[in-house]
This record gives sequence, C-alpha cells and structure tokens, in this order.
Amino acid sequence: MSKAPRLIYLPLGGAGEIGMNCYVYGYGPEGRERLIVVDLGVTFPDMDTTPGVDLILPDVTWLAERADRIEGIFITHAHEDHIGALAHLWPRLKAPIHARRFTSIIARLKMEDQGLSGTEIQTVGVGETVEAGPFSVQFMPVAHSIPESSALIIDTPAGRIVHSGDFKLDPDPVVGEPWDPEARMGEGEPPVKVLVCDSTNVFTTHAGRSESTLGPAIRDLVESAPGLVAATTFASNVARLKTLADAGRAAGRSVCLMGRAMKKMVTAAQEAGVLTDFPPIVPPEMAAEVPRQNLMLIVTGSQGERRAATAQLSRGKYLGLELKEGDTFLFSSKTIPGNERGVIRIMNNFSEMGVNVVDDQGGRYHVSGHANRPDLERVHDTLKPQILIPNHGEHRHLREHARLAESKGIASDVVTNGMMVDLTGDLPEVVEYIETGRIYLDGNVLVGAMDGVIRDRLRLALNGQVLVTLLMDEDDALLGDAWVELNGLAERGRSGRSLSEEMEAELTEVLGRADRRLLTDDDKLDEAARRIVRQIAMEEIGKKPEVTVVVSRLAVE
Ligand SMILES: [Zn+2]
Ligand SMILES: [Zn+2]
Repeated sequence: MSKAPRLIYLPLGGAGEIGMNCYVYGYGPEGRERLIVVDLGVTFPDMDTTPGVDLILPDVTWLAERADRIEGIFITHAHEDHIGALAHLWPRLKAPIHARRFTSIIARLKMEDQGLSGTEIQTVGVGETVEAGPFSVQFMPVAHSIPESSALIIDTPAGRIVHSGDFKLDPDPVVGEPWDPEARMGEGEPPVKVLVCDSTNVFTTHAGRSESTLGPAIRDLVESAPGLVAATTFASNVARLKTLADAGRAAGRSVCLMGRAMKKMVTAAQEAGVLTDFPPIVPPEMAAEVPRQNLMLIVTGSQGERRAATAQLSRGKYLGLELKEGDTFLFSSKTIPGNERGVIRIMNNFSEMGVNVVDDQGGRYHVSGHANRPDLERVHDTLKPQILIPNHGEHRHLREHARLAESKGIASDVVTNGMMVDLTGDLPEVVEYIETGRIYLDGNVLVGAMDGVIRDRLRLALNGQVLVTLLMDEDDALLGDAWVELNGLAERGRSGRSLSEEMEAELTEVLGRADRRLLTDDDKLDEAARRIVRQIAMEEIGKKPEVTVVVSRLAVE
C-alpha cells in the first residue's frame, strides 16, 4: 500500500546557531521523498573549542545516504555560512547546483580550488524556474550584504514555500536590487503556505537602515582626514566597497584594494555585471608612491584575522606601506561575537602608532545586512504565511521569532538541526529526529567532531604531554634507564629538581623491582608508568599531563 505524499523540512545546520546553513526539503511518500538542498555553509573554528581546525561543516551523512534522491542543490548567496562547504561536500551528494550569476562565479572558484570542474553549476536568472522533481524553484532577489542574494520561492504539490535566505529590507541597497515582497503576492500567485525566515536580528527593535545612508558620513570622514585613510569591511560586502571607494574618489584619493579576497569579490561582481562604475584602483605595489593624503586603502581583515591586511598593517610595514601618526583607520563593520579580542588588539596597535581609529560608532559607518524586528513583521504581514519556521539563528533567536509569528496568529515552531518536520497539514509536526553534528576540515582531511581527534588535541594543549620510553631486554627486564621527554610542561617543579630526571629515576627504580607479571604485560606496564608519572607531576607542578608510554621489547617472539 502506498502512503500519501508529504512535504518535509529538515535543517542539518544553521537552525540553533548562526553558521553552516544547510536545509533539506522533501516531497513524496514517507521514506521515498524527492529532496532538494538549500545552502551548504561552514562555521569558523576558534582556539577554545576547535584549535587548529580549518573549517567546520555540517554532517550530511543523512543526505549522502539518500544522494540518489537529491534533485538539486540551491545556493541562496555567496556568504561562507551558505556556500563554504559546497566544494567539500559536493562529492558525497553529486547533484546539480543552482545559483544566480555572482554566486555561481564564487561557487566555481571554490569547486576549482578542490580540483572539481564546476560544470555541475547551473546559473539561474531571475524569473526563471528550475524544475527539480516535484519542486519548482525560483530565485527572488533580496537585499543583503553581498551581491545577488536571493530568497527562494519553492512551489510544491503541497503548497508554496518561501525560504527567505539572509535578507534585509532596503529600498536602496547601492549594489543590486531591493526586495519587494509584495511583488509576488496577489493575482495569479498561490498563497504562501510556509515561510522559512532569517531570525538573526529579531531582537533589534528599530527598523533597519539602508546601505545608502552610510555614504554621506563616510564621505565626510574621508574628506576631513589629514593623512592616509584605510578602511576595512567584509570583502564580500561589495556595496560597502563601492561606498568606501566612492568616498575616496570624491576626496581626490587614489583607491587601493589590499587582500586577495577583496580583489576576488570585486572582480566577480564586475564579471557578474552587478558592479559598474567602481573607481579605478591602484595596485598595492604602486600605492607607496602615492602621497599619503591622496591615498585610500580598502583592506581585508575586519574580524581581526591574523594574516589579513588589517592585522599586518597593525604590526608594521605591509607591502611597503606603514600607518603613522595622523592617519585614519575605519572599521566599517561589526565585530562578530567571538572575534572581539583580535579586533581590539589591532585597534590598540594602531592607537600606539598614533593612528586615529574609527569604528562603527552606533551605526554611523555600518549597517546590518539582516532584517530587524519591525522589518520581519512587515514581511510576515505581507506574505501572510500559514506556517512560519524561523531559521538562521541561535535557539534564543528562533524562539523569539516563533513567538513573534504566533502573536500574529501564524502557526510556528522552533525547529533545530536534526528535527524533521512534516509541513503537509495546517500545523508543523515533528516526525523524526535525525542524528546531525559537525565535521571538521583539519588540514586536508575531514574528521568527525565526535571522533576524538580534536578532543585529544585540546587535552594536549591544556595538560601538556609526557613521553615515556621503556626498553625491555630478552628477559623482560628494563634495559638501562627509563627515558622521559616533556612537551609543553615546566622543566622544574616545586622541589627545584629536573622533572624529567625525577620521573626517569622513579620509573627505573619501581620497574626495576617489579615482578614478571607486570613486566611481561604491555598494558600493565603502561598503566604503572602512567601512574608514576602523573603522581610526580601532580606533586611537583600540580598538573596531570597526558602520558604516552612506548614499550619496545628486544625479545624474539
Ligand atoms: Zn549572508
Ligand atoms: Zn548567513
């Protein structure tokens, strides 16, 4: 007996966190739904929880096991939290990729970086419809902080879904088109059954400001600055790059872009045709020859990234340029929570150089790319969805957004990563919990967050390591002395004696009189050595280090 088809929604990342967005929609009989994937993003690691990790990706095991049912992958925009995992995970999913032109260009670069051809990417124009199994998908332009961001209109036999993607309401976004949610309502358009909606700024109670309002303030700042002016923002915020560059040009300054990401984004935006009339730029190697009062640098690294241009300039000379007393540095950006320490360190470095550091200053030089609460309400009121599922938010954002929707009589529910929701009926219904999680790109391999690799690395980092080498002779007795090496530990403890020598002496002494039962058993030997080392470490330095015991036996088997 065949079951009735159903419409399902399953977030694998991005619901309950801001980062690594990955959403699945399905339609069909239970267990045989045809699937589409919206976005494949990453989250960035930090020193506290993921030291040494390069990127954090959503665990798409559930999807990979159903790869034959995936009709397509749709990328809403080219921010890393939406596109960053595409090239890493695509080989496990192998479905056609659909995106608008600018996003396609960035996607292709990412695929090529991973040795993939990028021919799987299909560029979709506004007004075109992609047929993907039971889904008909259209890209609807929205304003955000990167060119060609899109909401998706997903028509299914069970009704219309609007997946907002990241958006703001901005009638004049400087680069690209504003979102007119009303345009797709009314005559001939099906009602919106489900709105899956960005929740990032649900707690911000004032209406959002337009990108275009920043121009005058930035122009004033650049014009009145006496020396060199440098400014940083997200490289992908092409509208802001244009606002900054235009301010430089208006003040009679030559504009120089520093940092690879910046050049890549401007080139992609020009290639996509969304950026025209960008001021001519001076290559970095020629910038040093321009008188500083006639120069404006636009540089990468607004989040304090150690290797980016901003951090390099804060440490001294970079590409022949050096900031000094009387120069101005503008952060036309918001510091993402978690990055404050790095950014503040840079600000202090500039301050020591006598550079005038100017930051966001309560919205004077930066506006958010996400819809604030009143704007979200406007979208709810315009689209009038039957069901609203909040996404792109931490749990508190999702909960608040669901509450807001419910206060208007819209059915809503907090759906976090791994919750499969049936959207066929009048109310969202959780039908299954899928095991989800994170995978780490560590160097060039993918490791599971629960595999223990990073847990071990953290332990080594926190506790230090003692390496014990025991050489056993043909009669299973210790040959010579035990040998101890310390990694990341103080050489001397409370007694003032050498920690490694003390451990070696104690190991040699205790194992020298141990019985054969212990000495012939590697596990027991390991355990005994570990205990001795930890005890001495505890007494001497008050720490329990990680201990690695290597037993080598000369005995012939
Ligand atoms: Zn975004
Ligand atoms: Zn995002």
